[in-house]
Amino acid sequence: MVPLKLKPALKDYIWGGNRLPRVFGIESPYDKTAEAWVLSCHPDGENEIENGAYAGRTLSDVLNNEGRAYCGKHSEAFDFFPVLIKLIDAKDDLSVQVHPSDAYALEHEGQYGKTEAWYILDCEEDAEIIYGFSRDLTKEEFRAAIEQGTLLSCVNRVKVKPGDLFFIPSGTLHAICKGILLAEVQQNSNVTYRVYDYGRLQNGKPRQLHIEKAIDVTNLSAVPADGKPQGEPEVKNGCTETLLASCNLFTMRRLDVEEQTTVCADNSSFVSFVAIDGNGVLCHGDTVLTLYKGESIFLPAGLGDVEILGKVSLLVTTV
Ligand code: ZN
Repeated sequence: MVPLKLKPALKDYIWGGNRLPRVFGIESPYDKTAEAWVLSCHPDGENEIENGAYAGRTLSDVLNNEGRAYCGKHSEAFDFFPVLIKLIDAKDDLSVQVHPSDAYALEHEGQYGKTEAWYILDCEEDAEIIYGFSRDLTKEEFRAAIEQGTLLSCVNRVKVKPGDLFFIPSGTLHAICKGILLAEVQQNSNVTYRVYDYGRLQNGKPRQLHIEKAIDVTNLSAVPADGKPQGEPEVKNGCTETLLASCNLFTMRRLDVEEQTTVCADNSSFVSFVAIDGNGVLCHGDTVLTLYKGESIFLPAGLGDVEILGKVSLLVTTV
């Protein structure tokens, strides 16, 4: 087993900007690069392996070939690979949307639902997100607000800053608004019910809305959001580790490496590294891979210790 360097799958959605190529060095053929899917086995955007014997093959292909132990014991609770990780550059507002629960999505879409978490990497001053509602609504009030175009008057707007973490359970109405660059860890699903799209046109037409399904799945109670990561920074073993979010689906940590540290991929889970700042190098046996800002590496479960050298900050995700 070796660590795998992953080539991101890119999306040129209408609200994207150019910071993923410009600031994160991600090579993109697009004018607007909205999303880089940096850990993905989803058919809508597969990662390709860049190193070793698997170079040129997709991550899904490798996982099928290697069998279930490659992703670790905790992944065995899921029918398919559990998470999808993206870097998102919102130059413009994203549509206001909601994702269904597992139960609803498996019944209606044949995919998992989507709970997601956002880690704010950078943003303009006064940038904000939409997180649920500013007061409790009834189904009738929600429907009327959508139909009458007054939805934005009853949503909860939350100002954000770099380092904020927002956990977004399925059923929470949400939107990333303009000027935000973030990392998203989410369930491996691409089911989105769009509720409001600011009247925008794409190729001369409005994008599809999914109002009935959104009304079925949206939590209409007001829920506060404070942006606080779950844990405090802890200094250990040559680095500072901060627990960002942990739930039954995934755990996200931030690791700030000063010069050198060791991370172990044991049998419980694969480990995903996404470099979010600085420059580093990962070493495991004969394998040496760069970990520059924007780069993504997958450690198979049971790989053991890897060494990380350099001054680099990583988003570390396990299940
Ligand atoms: Zn979402």
